[in-house]
Amino acid sequence: MKLSEYIVLVKSDGDFINYLTEKAVFLEVLECPKCRNNIKLNKERLQFRCIKLVSIGKKKKTRCNYILSARKKTFFECKLSVQQIGLFVGYFLYMPQPRSTFLMEELDFSSKTVEDWSNFCREVCIEWCLQNTQKTRGSR
Ligand SMILES: [Zn+2]
Repeated sequence: MKLSEYIVLVKSDGDFINYLTEKAVFLEVLECPKCRNNIKLNKERLQFRCIKLVSIGKKKKTRCNYILSARKKTFFECKLSVQQIGLFVGYFLYMPQPRSTFLMEELDFSSKTVEDWSNFCREVCIEWCLQNTQKTRGSR
């Protein structure tokens, strides 16, 4: 995918969320930890909300109302929008260094935010390399 195509994808919110769901960044369905109901992801809110009617003992049925952000425990769990993070990651991966000044200007990020997110991206890249590197017998 070319950078220009990726940027179009990121900026079309619905398609980008679908893309991230296809890549299993976000779960499509979550089992409610309170009532075991399968909750489908609300892609506009990026949220799981259980609306199953449950009864506790002999009481009248009430909504389970368990709520969880789809961003929880993902790379996207922060104050930045999914789109901002998507653009940052795209530029980080596609553009050669030095790119910090460009990232600050293009995304209106502080130097601290660019530094932090560059470090996050590097950590993910290193982790990916460690998981996808095959040891070759006899090589050094
Ligand atoms: Zn529930």
